[in-house]
Amino acid sequence: MTVEQFDPSTINSAQSQTTTLDIPSKMIEEQSQRSEQLANANQSVERTAKIGFLSLGCPKNLVDSERILTQLRTEGYDVTNSYNDAELVIVNTCGFIDSAVQESLDTIGEALAENGKVLVTGCLGVKKDEIIELHPNVLGVTGPHAYDEVLAQVHEHVAKPVHNPFIDLVPPQGVKLTPKHYAYLKISEGCNHRCTFCIIPSMRGDLDSRPVGDVLGEAQRLVKSGVKELLVISQDTSAYGVDVKHKTDFWDGMPVKTHMQQLCEQLAKQGVWIRLHYVYPYPHVDHIIPLMRDGKILPYLDIPFQHANKRILKLMKRPGSSDRVLERIAKWREICPELVIRSTFIVGFPGETEEEFEELLDFLEEAQLDRVGCFKYSPVEGATANALPDHVSEEVMEDRLQRFMEVQARISAEKLQARIGQEYLILIDEITELGAVGRSYMDAPEVDGKVYLTDEFDVKPGDQIWVQIIHADEHDVWGVRVED
Ligand code: SF4
Repeated sequence: MTVEQFDPSTINSAQSQTTTLDIPSKMIEEQSQRSEQLANANQSVERTAKIGFLSLGCPKNLVDSERILTQLRTEGYDVTNSYNDAELVIVNTCGFIDSAVQESLDTIGEALAENGKVLVTGCLGVKKDEIIELHPNVLGVTGPHAYDEVLAQVHEHVAKPVHNPFIDLVPPQGVKLTPKHYAYLKISEGCNHRCTFCIIPSMRGDLDSRPVGDVLGEAQRLVKSGVKELLVISQDTSAYGVDVKHKTDFWDGMPVKTHMQQLCEQLAKQGVWIRLHYVYPYPHVDHIIPLMRDGKILPYLDIPFQHANKRILKLMKRPGSSDRVLERIAKWREICPELVIRSTFIVGFPGETEEEFEELLDFLEEAQLDRVGCFKYSPVEGATANALPDHVSEEVMEDRLQRFMEVQARISAEKLQARIGQEYLILIDEITELGAVGRSYMDAPEVDGKVYLTDEFDVKPGDQIWVQIIHADEHDVWGVRVED
């Protein structure tokens, strides 16, 4: 199990879990490698307009970065990992928690010091005044998913490069910042809920579902480009299409509803791993479980439960009802015994009593969740929960976090021990000097465990091989290759 920084976006998100996808230098380096590949393939195009790009935060922000980069490349701009070479630097910020805000502000400061011409976009962009107060020399500030505004600001400061329209600078799947074999598929923006610990709706607005035909088209292009795993992300995947009343769109000449179930059924036809994140346990999720049982999508559900006590959930204004959650989990497992459930929880929410916390521990024991992240409550600026009485002291929160971790670490270790001797299909992520490292259907990238294959070098990232598990700890497993 993992202890993660408090981040409401991951809360309904797994990942931002500030989720560690970020590492700006890494992003920019990977992007640069891809730019190099593209550059080699398009030598006759004169490109002098180079843009630096730094992407911080969660997978949703990463997808925004990919869209901006794709548009920049489409227009003929080049992307560089060097402050010196860049004519301008774009910083795509994260602004959910204090440490993310600080990292974003520091990154803007560094880009200003190293390059001098900086555009700021992303979640922290909604606090334009704060950014300008600290960094008055930034050239422009926009909020999240403001693709057109960012491009317009780039045009203002760096003239569009000479571009031969007959040479395609961008691969059909667009520019991707994830490894070639997996990709995030963002199906909607924003959120209609108003969880009291979260400021995402004020940053990203209400739910805005992408047309299902667009989503499926993107999925197909990604698969054609070699992607083996699609990770469906949003703020609330179960709510997909609610804003457009689940209207019918078209894909491949066929009518398809803008609805989670129909989306999953169509994605299943792509023949790659489909992993669902940020699923709320609404009743219609029951209809997704048979797709998992039948091997159409991965039997993996990322459901941010946050708590188990009714009063706390009410104070949190969580969507969906906590009633009968355990019953529903049991029913899902009956239908699909392979189902793996990942979740995130908050301990020390304002007013949480010792008894209510113990109810959460009891829930953990009963629910036997496979992957769990835990956050101490953090008063995100602007969150309505901050006004609630009886905030829990740091000391008590820390104590509860440790007790929570102990329980979940034991559960996780027991569950992984039970995997020893079994065989799983593993998707290889990387080759290290010790061997290959991959994941099974039970592990999402960045947030879950890994499968280590010591001394296995006869594979490459993106390969899928069968592996027998021979050892496990609380989080990861070790295995050996077996014949297909
Ligand atoms: S308000 Fe929306 S985005 Fe924020 S935690 Fe709640 S469901 Fe998730």
